[in-house]
Amino acid sequence: DTLKDTLISAIRTIPDYPKPGILFRDITTLLGNASAFRRAVDQLVYPYAGTKIDKVAGMEARGFILGGAVAHQLSAGFIPIRKKGKLPHETVRIAYSLEYGIDEMEMHKDAVQPGEKVILVDDLIATGGTAVGAVSLLRQMGAEIVAACFVIDLPDLGGRKKLEEMGVKVRTLVE
Ligand code: IMP
Repeated sequence: DTLKDTLISAIRTIPDYPKPGILFRDITTLLGNASAFRRAVDQLVYPYAGTKIDKVAGMEARGFILGGAVAHQLSAGFIPIRKKGKLPHETVRIAYSLEYGIDEMEMHKDAVQPGEKVILVDDLIATGGTAVGAVSLLRQMGAEIVAACFVIDLPDLGGRKKLEEMGVKVRTLVE
């Protein structure tokens, strides 16, 4: 599959970042490669062409870059889901699990209306803690999650399965 090969070769792997023993998948090289970036975004959005998508929600920070591009392609609005304390207006907040410990994420209360169709976007799904938190927050506000889309899946960490068990359709481009 040439698209997969193109994307995989555009992703840089950094050993021992941010900690010893971790292989960090760095998408800045993919973002900096004009054709790889375009093809990744096109591949994320094509199943939804012609479907009414109201909003794309992106997780801070790499989900903002990809999610912004996806929202533009689908003529949808964009919802930033941020680490706590960064959004200026009234928010809803949820605790989510990280590999070690927990943190909180939030979105503006008025960012989504009940019944709106939303696609969630991030660069990578690992344990799924971040995406499960975002889905829960969006559903709490009445959003209908059409799909959760990621460039990279780390299948051994089980995140995709967790989302599917919540009834979320998951789309990933490379493993
Ligand atoms: P999860 O919550 O364990 O699924 O981790 C996914 C979140 O952590 C996403 O927001 C990713 O951007 C980030 N993340 C985890 N591992 C990596 C990596 O190797 N490269 C880039 N981002 C990562």
